[in-house]
Amino acid sequence: MADQVLQEIKDRLNIADVIGGYITLKKAGVNFKAPCPFHHEKTPSLIVSPQKQIWHCFGCGEGGDVFGFVIKYENLEFRDALKLLADKAGVKLPSYRPENKHEQDEKDLLLRINSFAAAFYHKVLNSQQGERAYVYLINRGLTKGTIERWQIGFAPDDFHSLERALLVKKVNQADMIKAGVSAKNERGQVYDRFRGRITFPIFNYFGEVVGFSARILTDDGKSAKYVNSPETPIYNKSRTLFGLNFAKDSIRKKDEAVLVEGQMDCIAAHQAGFENTVAVSGTALTEVGLAQLGRLTKNLKFCFDADQAGKTASRRAGEMALPQGFKLKVIKLQAAKDPDELIKKSPGLWERAVKEAVWFLDYYIDLAQTSFAPDSVEQKHFLSAQVLPFLGFIQDPLEQDHYIRKMSTKFSISEKIIRDNIKKSVGKQISESAVNSPLTHNGLLLQKEVLGGLLFSNDFILEAKSQLEMNDFEDPEIRQIVELILHRSGSTNEVNVATLAKEASFMVESQLEELEGDTEKLKKSLLKSLALLKVNSFKRQQISLQNQVKTAELAKDKAKVEKLSREFAEISKARLEFEKQI
Ligand SMILES: [Zn+2]
Repeated sequence: MADQVLQEIKDRLNIADVIGGYITLKKAGVNFKAPCPFHHEKTPSLIVSPQKQIWHCFGCGEGGDVFGFVIKYENLEFRDALKLLADKAGVKLPSYRPENKHEQDEKDLLLRINSFAAAFYHKVLNSQQGERAYVYLINRGLTKGTIERWQIGFAPDDFHSLERALLVKKVNQADMIKAGVSAKNERGQVYDRFRGRITFPIFNYFGEVVGFSARILTDDGKSAKYVNSPETPIYNKSRTLFGLNFAKDSIRKKDEAVLVEGQMDCIAAHQAGFENTVAVSGTALTEVGLAQLGRLTKNLKFCFDADQAGKTASRRAGEMALPQGFKLKVIKLQAAKDPDELIKKSPGLWERAVKEAVWFLDYYIDLAQTSFAPDSVEQKHFLSAQVLPFLGFIQDPLEQDHYIRKMSTKFSISEKIIRDNIKKSVGKQISESAVNSPLTHNGLLLQKEVLGGLLFSNDFILEAKSQLEMNDFEDPEIRQIVELILHRSGSTNEVNVATLAKEASFMVESQLEELEGDTEKLKKSLLKSLALLKVNSFKRQQISLQNQVKTAELAKDKAKVEKLSREFAEISKARLEFEKQI
């Protein structure tokens, strides 16, 4: 991508407007402040500088330009963030040539194949060949407009109809298979994956077709009711929520999302005007999917079927959504088996069900009350196994307290027992996460701070040069710039360098401002950061050595164990020197 285009997009957009579209910014002098969405905090430490067109979090060290924010916040790849922001800025993108051109070309091709297939099936649906399917859809209550909008189609009951159409377009069989629209049997024969089925395109966040969910038209009792596209380079099931492309604006506006199980439920809801609805659509709800929703709203209502699978899905949703800080409610269906059916009876009934959704935990407490004899062993068992664990997931302490009291009075269990139980389950979570993340964000903050120091003062360069090693910097981009500063070698990506450098200097300048211009104090603080960076780096090396020692021990390689242990001891000594400076 030509740097000029990136610059043009940045120039036309005000970074504060873009970021302000996602989180609430408060004016702070020439800058803006907000609580950082990328780490847990109550006092705002994220600063947006419209002058420098950068953002930076003093809490966790994340930062960058407007692209960096959108990529992180929306969980997008660079290419997609570029599309999104170019669109916002009204800049037309020249055909994009990424570093990894081959990979990008392949994704584009797979998107084109799926989009062609959607149009092909849609055309068939509107032809005589698709008449029965069309009538079926109309009978199920869909309007012509809805069928158009969702590009619903019909795949003919023929092993090669799509294939023939694609061959005319010079698409080869290998690419059809890669795109998921064709499959290959044991004898090596290639055939259309979807046959005799109503096709529902699955769209990505941007409304591009990435796959299909295809419903059988004539149930023969043998075939699966739904056949879905396999995972492909463009279709990642755990990242895709059905309908999100149509729902995202409404979710943001209403600050609420409704999650349903089936795609027909989702489409029916949209048709009836409930556009903030998305569906899990056959695949299980995942943390990634939830995180995607969580960037649009933290208010989630969901409605899963009353069968066993639906119950399990509900529990799982609670286990994932509560720790992510969602305000979670359950929609109860009374007079219908699913939302689609209820909406068909009357959209008003569905509207009321959504409005009267109950808090997730109240739902389970009610369940404990209605399903078991009061004070029975079965009830206590249900409470301790099914309800108590959720209490530990609640992020808001006031809300947690509310439920502790409620359960205590309702079921006459002492508050102490409940609190002890929560501690146990939360303790487990913490110890698990501690193992998984030995070094945290702080590392990033330190790396940027030291980089800022190097950019800011020649004195600091002289001071740091003899102590720093390139592998003290984990972030490859920061490492590249440091190498450029200290050794005048290596190559870097211009645009990223400029942004990172701006952000790092911004950090140090802000620090100096806070220290009221006292450069001596600043130097001390920078040296301390340098020492911390070194300690982190030594810790990393020690962890790696520990693992190597384990392997060597298993291999009974005594000499190697001794050698590694000596290295470990040397690093401990060096680490101690820096720890003294902190
Ligand atoms: Zn942060």
